[in-house]
Amino acid sequence: MSQPYRVLLYYKYEHIEDPEAFAKEHLAKCKELGIKGRILVAHEGINGTVSGTVEQTEAYKDYVHSLEGFEDLWFKEDKAEENAFHKIFVRPRKELVSLRLEEDIDPLKLTGKYLDPVAFKEALLDEDTVVLDTRNDYEYDLGHFEGAIRPDIRNFRELPQWVRDNKEKFMDKKVVVYCTGGIRCEKFSGWLLREGIEDVGQLEGGIAAYGKHPETKGDLWNGKMYVFDERISVDINQVNPVVIGKDWYDGTPQERYVNCANPECNRQFLTSKENEDKYLRGCCAECRRHPRNRYVEEHNLSLDEWEDRLNAIGESLDDRHEIA
Ligand SMILES: [Zn+2]
Repeated sequence: MSQPYRVLLYYKYEHIEDPEAFAKEHLAKCKELGIKGRILVAHEGINGTVSGTVEQTEAYKDYVHSLEGFEDLWFKEDKAEENAFHKIFVRPRKELVSLRLEEDIDPLKLTGKYLDPVAFKEALLDEDTVVLDTRNDYEYDLGHFEGAIRPDIRNFRELPQWVRDNKEKFMDKKVVVYCTGGIRCEKFSGWLLREGIEDVGQLEGGIAAYGKHPETKGDLWNGKMYVFDERISVDINQVNPVVIGKDWYDGTPQERYVNCANPECNRQFLTSKENEDKYLRGCCAECRRHPRNRYVEEHNLSLDEWEDRLNAIGESLDDRHEIA
């Protein structure tokens, strides 16, 4: 199969004086080059995932490397059949990843020690090291490193509180953290140090780099890696890949992602097309009978058809009155 496209995942913490002006110029350049994707710019640096043809992404890499302070920016690269985005967004933000600490961490001054994929694999196999996944629950559930701790969070902002609530798991231990491309861990490992955990490591380049490393080849990673673009997930383990994702409704092996059809919920979960139809893509009874259920809209279901589907699984639209 020819794979004429590339997806670039990257970030760099580096002071940007005027994020608004930087973003404006960057957007114009992306449009000129035909690059698609999502890029965030802040005083603390840049974070993006972009896609384009090989020629377009090569030209984009050259452009970024020509910017002062970004000469050595590390692009993690995937081959692809098509663009992973349809549009280009370059947005100024307060933070590159939304952690919203009362007292912010500057990873250029305080961060955990960097472990390359080989050193990280050793840490995974070391019984005295605690490995913490810093991503969200739905990302973990699709795939994660063997033995890693799963924080019970739907958003990165919830992680500091979760760690404080589960401190006994980490205090006085060697702690190693990982995330998709490394950016979340830059700040979070610094935060762990500030919380008083003395020995903190982070997987340099994240899971993305670990999967591509010629020695580790994604070994000890189970499932797929969730990504924030139209691909939704990518393969990591080139040695012995296994499926660990489970269907939300019946627990059977599954790697197909959907968003809950209730727009106010939007929870992401794994399910087959068959179960999506059966349960109207609702994560719970309340979402299935929600007046703005998007599945019902998309399939032009009449009220009777909607009711029939719910009856088939022992539910009813009438239950609405009970929740009102
Ligand atoms: Zn829901």
